Amino acid sequence: MLTIKDKTFVPFITADAIQARVQELAGQINQAYADKQPLIVVVLNGAFLFAADLMKHLSIPCEITFIRVASYTATQSTGQLKQILGLSESVTDRHLIVVEDIVDTGFTISEVRNQLAVDSPASISVATLLFKPAALKTPIDLHYVGFEIENRFVLGYGLDYDGLGRNTQDILVLE
Ligand code: 5GP
Ligand code: MG
Ligand code: MG
Repeated sequence: MLTIKDKTFVPFITADAIQARVQELAGQINQAYADKQPLIVVVLNGAFLFAADLMKHLSIPCEITFIRVASYTATQSTGQLKQILGLSESVTDRHLIVVEDIVDTGFTISEVRNQLAVDSPASISVATLLFKPAALKTPIDLHYVGFEIENRFVLGYGLDYDGLGRNTQDILVLE
């Protein structure tokens, strides 16, 4: 159990389950991208631990870069997106794997996809640790999904509540 400010979070996905699943996803990516030298595009801040663990299990030649967007305040999606910041690499003709912590309404990832697509990458796929199908409001192709979860607010393993709580190995859920 973890209390942050006024909220109590209880265990949801264990560190062991996360690590096992991340390894499986990495295995799938290793097969699909063996000859593609992908550019991993990590959406900060939430995906930083997932991306780090995923990278450790990629055995193919690949590059990594980090971008930033922000659309979320406290526990409610605002649906308002800021632009992509921090992408200095050219994505033209590159095979991109966008790495996200969680897909909720889907607005963030679809906006990121659209903006990346402007520069004509060879392909774009999405790897998200968590996915809330019931919250989805825009159609989106998710190629690598760690866990489908119910529509509840989660935290830990990179995901925050108001900036706090990213530093756990497990994922917790709002009680
Ligand atoms: P979307 O644009 O898909 O609605 O939301 C995507 C972003 O909202 C995620 O990258 C994440 O930062 C935040 N988010 C969505 N659901 C949750 C949640 O349950 N917990 C936390 N900590 N962040 C969430
Ligand atoms: Mg995110
Ligand atoms: Mg957040």
